[in-house]
Amino acid sequence: MSGEPSKTLFEKIIAREIPATIVFEDELCFAIRDINPVAPTHILLIPKKPMPRLCDAVPEDQALLGHLMLIATRIAEAEGYGDAYRLVVNNGAASGQSVFHLHLHIIAGRPLKWPPG
Ligand code: 5GP
Repeated sequence: MSGEPSKTLFEKIIAREIPATIVFEDELCFAIRDINPVAPTHILLIPKKPMPRLCDAVPEDQALLGHLMLIATRIAEAEGYGDAYRLVVNNGAASGQSVFHLHLHIIAGRPLKWPPG
């Protein structure tokens, strides 16, 4: 048995072991279309560094987290929704997180109610 930790779903996707529609990639992160979209645009923006949850981020991750926010904005603009989009991070199973590799949901393209469910 190897001591290698098993890859997360998103690590397998960026390694091209599992297919996905990749809409953006740079040295720090990548973005894919959600397999089960809740809006016309539903993209997952994922750091290549596989931290399980946002609350696992450490001070050294500050620049990476800021990078994700800026790239999310660029992606929303590229989708044509630069003026009306929502970013969501589910942190922990009780919040709805199902994939334990940090990701931002970029949701746009329909009226977005507040408060979210
Ligand atoms: P979470 O519930 O962890 O906040 O979000 C996980 C998201 O990943 C869900 O919106 C779900 O639809 C999406 N997802 C789960 N498995 C896959 C997959 O294999 N491919 C893609 N593209 N999205 C996935």
